[in-house]
Amino acid sequence: MIYLCAISNIRSGACKEDCKFCTQSVKWGADINRYKEKDIKTIVNEAKLAKKNKAVGFCLVTSGKGLDDKTLEYVCRASKAVLNEVDIKIIACNGTASKESLIELKKAGVEIYNHNLETSREYYPKICSTHSWDERFETCENVKSAGLRLCSGGIFGLGESEEDWISLLNSIKKLNPEGIPLNFFIENEKLPLKATHNRQMALEIIKMFRENFKNSIIMLAGGREKVFGNKFTEGLKVGADAIIIGDYLTTKGEKPDKDIEILKKEGFKIANEC
Ligand code: SF4
Repeated sequence: MIYLCAISNIRSGACKEDCKFCTQSVKWGADINRYKEKDIKTIVNEAKLAKKNKAVGFCLVTSGKGLDDKTLEYVCRASKAVLNEVDIKIIACNGTASKESLIELKKAGVEIYNHNLETSREYYPKICSTHSWDERFETCENVKSAGLRLCSGGIFGLGESEEDWISLLNSIKKLNPEGIPLNFFIENEKLPLKATHNRQMALEIIKMFRENFKNSIIMLAGGREKVFGNKFTEGLKVGADAIIIGDYLTTKGEKPDKDIEILKKEGFKIANEC
């Protein structure tokens, strides 16, 4: 069974953090579409389209370090507006967050919170200097204590080593999330990193996570086109059981119709709920 999930970047760019893999950081000056708040009606229409494209989850993503009061109010408003019109699970991805603010999200109908650890604790200072890995881990713990379902994974191909993958995996084990997104770095000429991933490496990472997390949903997330081209089902055959459909945060994804056609042709069943 394959789970489909769609994301909406409801606030894009203008982030003061310096994550080296992210085009939304002001530090790197990447040429992306930047806006403070996507209109609520547009978000609802995107959720309707996601549902039509068989997505079981719809993720409201905001750029920036964390869930401050203004962001919290906006995400709650967006969540309620979507749920008013669309039968879909709401996921929020809004950076570091306190238990109290996560409880407010839950009250607004959010079921799942995505917060990736990104990479190992040891390697993290090499990819971000403005906040710590420990803060990320603490947010993941807050998600669980707030009673939300946790989705937490990482991004690969940033120059990290195999030891870093294992260290990340062991940290994720402590959190035992229900969903684990595996992202593969998408290069941009303004970013200071060059991608170090390839197809074989991606397959090994997916297998390693599947072997260690029998009961979690392993999602082939950003960058799958970079490592697999349109042969993303190779990643599903070795253990991933979810994909993001449609566009990513600041880059275009495949057309959902095309992905669904490939899945059906290869005999994969698409899940109706998660
Ligand atoms: S905190 Fe989030 S939005 Fe900001 S630079 Fe890092 S990954 Fe990008």
